[in-house]
Amino acid sequence: MITIIGAGIGGLTTAIALQKQGIPVKIYEQAPSIKAVGAGIILANNAMQVYKNLGISYLFVTEGNAISSMNIVTPQLKVISKADLQYFEEKYRVKNTAIHRGTLQKLLVEELDEGTLELGKQLQSVKRITNSEDTGDGNQQNFQLTFTDGTTTTAAYLIGADGIESQVRQQLFPATEIRYAQQVCWRGLTNFTLPPEYRHELNEAWGKGTRFGFVQIAPNTVYWYALKSYHTVHKFGLHMLEGFFADYHALIREIIKHTPKEKIHTAEITDLKPHKTWHIPQAVLIGDAAHATTPNLGQGACQAIEDAHVLANCFVNYPSFDEAAQKFQELRIKKAHQIVNTSWTIGKVSHLNNGFLIMLRNTAMRMLPKSASRKQSAQIFELVDV
Ligand SMILES: Cc1cc2nc3c(=O)[nH]c(=O)nc-3n(C[C@H](O)[C@H](O)[C@H](O)COP(=O)(O)OP(=O)(O)OC[C@H]3O[C@@H](n4cnc5c(N)ncnc54)[C@H](O)[C@@H]3O)c2cc1C
Repeated sequence: MITIIGAGIGGLTTAIALQKQGIPVKIYEQAPSIKAVGAGIILANNAMQVYKNLGISYLFVTEGNAISSMNIVTPQLKVISKADLQYFEEKYRVKNTAIHRGTLQKLLVEELDEGTLELGKQLQSVKRITNSEDTGDGNQQNFQLTFTDGTTTTAAYLIGADGIESQVRQQLFPATEIRYAQQVCWRGLTNFTLPPEYRHELNEAWGKGTRFGFVQIAPNTVYWYALKSYHTVHKFGLHMLEGFFADYHALIREIIKHTPKEKIHTAEITDLKPHKTWHIPQAVLIGDAAHATTPNLGQGACQAIEDAHVLANCFVNYPSFDEAAQKFQELRIKKAHQIVNTSWTIGKVSHLNNGFLIMLRNTAMRMLPKSASRKQSAQIFELVDV
C-alpha cells in the first residue's frame, strides 16, 4: 500500500495512475471536502496526453473548452507572440483544455476506487519508525503519521503531494527555500461570453508591471487572472484592481467590472527554489511539494500530472519502491527545473516598467521565428519515456 498526502491535482492523478496499474493507494487530505479555489486552469497538451493514456481525457474535453492558441498581447490586445498549438494537437491528438478547477478535481475524485480518499486529515507530523515493525502481512511500516485531529496511522511508503508548503518535505527532506516573486495575483471567475474570436484562445496582456490573462472555460464562464509587481511591501486592496487596469482594452475592463468581488481570490506568487532531493528511502515528493513553479508558463499542475505518469510507470518497470522513486527523480528533475527557471525569468521579463525596454522586448518577441517558438513548446509538451 502506498500512502499519499494531499488530494490536489497531483495527488489525485497519481492515485488514479497507480490504481490503473493495480497498486493499492490511500490518500489523506486536510480539507473537509474537495473544494478547489474558484478559478480555471489550462490542461496543456502534455497533461492531456497523460489523461489520454489513463483513458480519461474525454471527461475534460466534455466539461472544458479547447484552446488552440495561446497569445501574448499588448494591453490593447495587439498580438506580440502566438504559441503554435495546432501542430501539437495534430501530433499528439489532444488539445490544450481550459476547465474549472472544481470540475477537474470532482472528475478526478470520481475516478478513484471507493475508500481511497480520507478527508479532514491534516498531517501534523511524520516520523520514521526506526525499528520497522512487521504488521504481520509482510509489509514493513516505515512512517508514523499523526493528524491534527489526534489520530495516527502508519505508512510503508509515502508520496508527499501536499503542495508548496508540504509537511512531508519540511519534516523528512533537506531544507528548501520558498521564493517570493514580488507579484500579487488575483484570479476570478465570471458569467461572461467572450466575442467569438477569443473563445478558443488564451490571451495574456502585458502592460507596465502588470499582466491580465483571460480564457473561456465553459459556455458562459470566463476565468481571468491579473498580476501586479511590488518592490518592498504591498497594500493592494480589491477596490484598487479596476484602477490598475484602467488603461487596458475595454473588454478587459468589462471582465473585471463584471466579476462579483467574492469570486476574486488573491494570492502571492511564489515558487520553490530548485533542489535536488525528491526521494529518500521509502518516500518521494511530487508536484508542487517537489518543484512548485510560478504560474507564468501555466505548467504547475501539468508538471504534477507528468509526475503521476512517470512515477506510475516507474513502479511498473522497477522492482522496488526506492528504485522506482530514484528513477522517477532522475527522469523528471531536468524538465521540471527548466520550467521553474524559465517561468521565473518570464515573470521578470513580463513585468518590465520601462517603456523603452518594453518596446525592445516586444520587438524581439515579434521577430522570434515560428520554429523557435515551436521548439520551446515541444520541450514542454513532450513526455519522457520510462
Ligand atoms: C495564479 C495561478 C494560476 C495557475 N494556472 C495554472 C495553469 O493554468 N495550469 C497549470 O498546470 N498550473 C497552474 N497553476 C499551478 C497549479 O495550481 C499548481 O502547480 C498545482 O495545483 C499543484 O498541484 P499539487 O497537487 O502538486 O499541489 P496542490 O494543488 O497545492 O495540492 C496539495 C493538496 O495537499 C493538501 N495538503 C496540504 N497540506 C496538507 C497536510 N498537512 N495534510 C493533508 N493534506 C494537505 C492541500 O489541501 C491540497 O489539496 C497556477 C497557479 C497559480 C498560483
